[in-house]
Amino acid sequence: MPSPPPPDSAPRAVLREVFGFAGFRGLQQEAVEHVIAGGDALVLMPTGGGKSLCYQVPAICRRGTGIVVSPLIALMDDQVAALRQAGVAAAALHSELEPPDARAALQDLRRGALDLLYVSPERLLSGLIDRLDGLDLALFAIDEAHCVSQWGHEFRPEYRALSVLPQRFPGVPRIALTATADPRTQSDILAALGLDRARVFAASFHRPNLFLAAEPKIGETAQLAAFLARHEGEAGIVYCGSRARTERIAARLAERGAPALAFHAGLEPAAKRAALARFRSGEPVVMVATIAFGMGIDRPDVRFVAHLDMPDSPEAYYQQIGRAGRDGEPAETLLLHGGEDVARARYFLAQSAASETQKQSMRARLEAMVALTETAECRTRALLACFGEGLAEPCGHCDNCRAPPEMQDGTEAARMLLSAVYRTGQMFGALHVIAVLRGERSETVLRHGHDRLALFGLGHDRPVAFWREVVRQLVVRGALSVATGEFASLTLESEAARPILRGETAVMLRASVPGPKPARGRVAARPHPASMPPASMSPGAEARFAALRAWRKREASTQGVPPYVIFHDSVLQELAAQCPASLDDLAEVRGIGASKLRRYGAAVLQALAEG
Ligand code: ADP
Ligand code: ZN
Repeated sequence: MPSPPPPDSAPRAVLREVFGFAGFRGLQQEAVEHVIAGGDALVLMPTGGGKSLCYQVPAICRRGTGIVVSPLIALMDDQVAALRQAGVAAAALHSELEPPDARAALQDLRRGALDLLYVSPERLLSGLIDRLDGLDLALFAIDEAHCVSQWGHEFRPEYRALSVLPQRFPGVPRIALTATADPRTQSDILAALGLDRARVFAASFHRPNLFLAAEPKIGETAQLAAFLARHEGEAGIVYCGSRARTERIAARLAERGAPALAFHAGLEPAAKRAALARFRSGEPVVMVATIAFGMGIDRPDVRFVAHLDMPDSPEAYYQQIGRAGRDGEPAETLLLHGGEDVARARYFLAQSAASETQKQSMRARLEAMVALTETAECRTRALLACFGEGLAEPCGHCDNCRAPPEMQDGTEAARMLLSAVYRTGQMFGALHVIAVLRGERSETVLRHGHDRLALFGLGHDRPVAFWREVVRQLVVRGALSVATGEFASLTLESEAARPILRGETAVMLRASVPGPKPARGRVAARPHPASMPPASMSPGAEARFAALRAWRKREASTQGVPPYVIFHDSVLQELAAQCPASLDDLAEVRGIGASKLRRYGAAVLQALAEG
């Protein structure tokens, strides 16, 4: 018998008794009811939207065990730990399990004692599947279902073999879940998993607690430092485009005393585990990582995500920044970008071994990302538009909403720069071309006789930063390309360059780019979300919050689980604010179900009394 069936296993009762929540959110209820009734479903919700409950509640309500296919061990372990905290019979089967634990899980499965079993797709398809024959199965949940799409950025070939499930287990409902909203990926999931009759539950991907901002790289280190200074004592992620860069940046930050760690796929397994453990410990950690870090990290209180290199699609970008603020509290994101990023991404795409159709799709995504980076409109709205979602009003809190960028006409400057590239023979990088325009008699300029060009010194009244922005704009527009070799030489792309040179098309630049009088300090001067009042706590509540956190930390390390599977910060904050004095009052607090009340009620009341 699947274990302790709650007195009343209607979904709302399970939600209240087991998870301690008063009601379903958004589409949860419909999806839950649909699956309980035996229907297949595809659930599309942003990170933090509450996907897990969509299969956990039906698995508890329905007869038999729910099998959850999940791609990452860390994710499985966290989910299982959190479910056990809530008194649910859950287990995982994966390659890092001790043999006795694996045996126990299999035994429980056979006895029908599990509500939920988490497995990797490999494990399910190599052997485990045969042991499921004849067992009562509540459902199959396929988490991170975008992994089935070969167009996606996290393709896992094993996922495609999950298409055997409907034939092997007719009548067992399947629910696929993902936070990737791209329509192409959705239809891929439905087709590849044979979910022909599935109902699609697509939530809005708008996450009002995420603050979006993008800035051209002016001084990467200073920009990052200003950003991190707003987030001292908080946890976050800094994404870099290469392994070497993660190590360099992490070392630089650590030198300045930041709790920075590098993470990438090339680390030794032990170093990787140590970094993950520190991140999951609930400490303030700045993870400087490649995209290898992320999927399966469900720490809820990630307060910031910065990108030092542009992601290659809006989907990847959204997924990465989506790792911030899963707890619903405000979280800040910053994308730093340069013309070189765009040039490099385009170059690698052109060189890639992908098929022409694949390249076309990748190119479309890349250009959508470039447009999103460059937009002067509400950035949140532009991002949602990439997923076919409209936002009636501008979001009001992205960088462009808070400080609408003023534009200036840069057509004349653009023509000057293109001419300078042409006249210097399309062999030089941006620095040299800019030096010529600014009339600098550098050694290289003199050696090539570029001081004798008619346009030598024509642009002397503009600072280097201005000309860099012109170069960046021209690269973004495809009028210039940057060679990826040692010298990063600029060449004209005639199709896009010609109309500019002829004065047939205008080039607009952001007015905030340093003009004749260098305007410094723009980055720091900009209003930013962290300056918005945080949910303020009274001094008393603050002390109680600290006491609760200290208790949680002790409890977590005794049990060997991350603190957030015991209680999220948001629950502790609510406890600190409300200061319930009895177990009955405690039961009213969101996120405290019957099991946690039993296990921790007394300790929480004591911590509150001490705080
Ligand atoms: P996702 O898997 O979609 O990223 P989760 O399932 O991890 O999101 O849920 C995100 C957070 O929202 C979790 O802390 C979860 O406990 C909370 N949550 C989910 N559903 C509800 C609900 N109905 N009421 C209150 N909190 C909820
Ligand atoms: Zn906006």
